[in-house]
Amino acid sequence: MAKKLVYGNIGSQEAMELEENYGAHNYHPLPVVIAKGEGAFVWDPEGNKYYDFLSAYSAVNQGHCHPKIINALIEQAKVLTLTSRAFFNNRLGDFEKFITEYFGYEKVLAMNSGAEAVETAMKLARKWAYKVKGIPENEAILVFAHGNFHGRTIAIVSASDDPDAKGDYGPFLPGIEVIDYNSPEALEALLKEKGDKVAAFIVEPIQGEAGVFVPAEGYLKKCYDLCKAYNVLLVADEVQTGIARTGKLLASMYDDVHPDILILGKAISGGVLPVSAVLADNDIMLTIKPGEHGSTFGGFPLACAVAKAALEVVTEENLVEKAYDLGMYFREQLATIDSPRLKSIRGRGLLNAIIVEPQDDVEAWDVCVMLKDKGLLCKPTHRHIIRFAPPLVITKDELDDCIKIIKSVFADLDA
Ligand SMILES: *Cc1c(COP(=O)(O)O)cnc(C)c1O
Repeated sequence: MAKKLVYGNIGSQEAMELEENYGAHNYHPLPVVIAKGEGAFVWDPEGNKYYDFLSAYSAVNQGHCHPKIINALIEQAKVLTLTSRAFFNNRLGDFEKFITEYFGYEKVLAMNSGAEAVETAMKLARKWAYKVKGIPENEAILVFAHGNFHGRTIAIVSASDDPDAKGDYGPFLPGIEVIDYNSPEALEALLKEKGDKVAAFIVEPIQGEAGVFVPAEGYLKKCYDLCKAYNVLLVADEVQTGIARTGKLLASMYDDVHPDILILGKAISGGVLPVSAVLADNDIMLTIKPGEHGSTFGGFPLACAVAKAALEVVTEENLVEKAYDLGMYFREQLATIDSPRLKSIRGRGLLNAIIVEPQDDVEAWDVCVMLKDKGLLCKPTHRHIIRFAPPLVITKDELDDCIKIIKSVFADLDA
């Protein structure tokens, strides 16, 4: 008999069957259905409560349904949602001033998804290369790093080396070079050979989807200095690492780097609307002229109101410091787990991952299912990595509770 429903009128089993039957099979979700979220918690339709340890891939840094952000959404939705950019609106300029001051750039270009912002940065870097650097037409090179994840469009997967992301989607975009991550030497070698044709190096300060791969200290700084020496733009994709997630406002700040182009998405709206942004100074941003790029929804009034509120929450609730301190504590606590299956722990702030040793056919996926059964939701990345990224509003007591759950799963596995 079906269990009584607490949230909504569709039970977990039915919800999963509906997705299976009517949705494209482009994801493989953990078997749990979420019907409600608040702060660091989510609930399934039957009323079971879970810690959210994924935060929608770090989009919900401010916690689920943050009252201030939801209020901004509702109030703005009552008066104006979308104008297109054919006209001015009374929210966009206010947001543009706010976000450029917040991150220290002269200009912003607002888009919707993270992938669109990455595409925008790619176009912007090419435009700059032809208009300012003087690269001959159609010869500009964009450099990426192995193991990257920047989104799912054809242009972006052209730079991917993940066979799942790339297989059977060719032909791909030309003018792309992919070099080793965490290797300033690889960048230097490429720039020595082709620096006069290179527009930009597009890189994640920490590779999130690759499994929270943290490069050596100073990596980004060395890359930045090399880029300066060869008149190449350093583009930081902080869609996942930005907005307090790693214990700094931007992960680039660990290396004191101010990227030439900054890409943001995900938590910019606190997980409420798809909002993304590309930030740069005038000499770069103003190379794109009216009519040369855009999006119907890009910078729509509703997005502006929501994103401003979401960034205010980051400041008002000290989420940068919270992520830094709780992250230190979390890694310390995980380090006390004495299990042959737990190979290593890595991360910064509250963007962390553990590497599990697959044993007796128990893989990261199975560990995630065990964690789910004890009330903690996370998702494996690859067969042996589990990312731990709770909303930054999680309290220390709640985090302690999560650490207990993680410890008990490893105790069960070793029993
Ligand atoms: C998620 C992500 C993207 C893509 O964002 P979407 O909103 O899914 O298109 C781009 N870059 C990084 C680093 C990401 O983590």
